[in-house]
Amino acid sequence: MKTIPVGPLSVNCYLSACEQTKKGMIIDPGDQEEIILRYIEREIDIEYIVLTHAHVDHLAATAQLQSKVGGLVCLHSADRFLLENADAQAELFQLRRPDSFTIDIDLKEQHALKIGHYDFQILETPGHSPGGICLYNESSKTCFVGDTLFYESIGRSDLPGGDHDVLVDSIKNKIYTLPGDTILYPGHGPKTDVEHEKTMNPFTTRP
Ligand SMILES: [Zn+2]
Repeated sequence: MKTIPVGPLSVNCYLSACEQTKKGMIIDPGDQEEIILRYIEREIDIEYIVLTHAHVDHLAATAQLQSKVGGLVCLHSADRFLLENADAQAELFQLRRPDSFTIDIDLKEQHALKIGHYDFQILETPGHSPGGICLYNESSKTCFVGDTLFYESIGRSDLPGGDHDVLVDSIKNKIYTLPGDTILYPGHGPKTDVEHEKTMNPFTTRP
């Protein structure tokens, strides 16, 4: 697993691969495909490009990467409206306008993406955006959480389709119910773990 911070908002793009089978996936290719490509060794076979949600800072390099390394693009259908507004989002945040691409797989709760020997389960975690998802693998105690949760913080809920109460419910019901030693890899900033956030995150520990 590699963390590759990209773009002006420093989005964590993750490259996750199975050592034995050389199958891999790219999570949130936000920008700077030339840097991401450097990490994809020739022998890694990219099966999926997973978007945790459809904010442009998480997906602007999707089309370019898919054309170079392949992979099925995966997004939850509840975030399609954001993708249709990608140009407006890019203008608002003064970010690069993404080239268009199509969604190959609609992600759904309990759906699993197989990367070699690892099954990544989809957890629907709306609140930051309506179609926000997390990707959880039990055996490696890994969960990619997008902008749902950050180290001692949570995602913003003031963007289109966002809802603070829904976001806190998603965190408590979907992330805090995972084993305490599960490592959480957010869309921005450092990694954390379930136990730490349960006890220290001021946005979810307040009554
Ligand atoms: Zn976001």
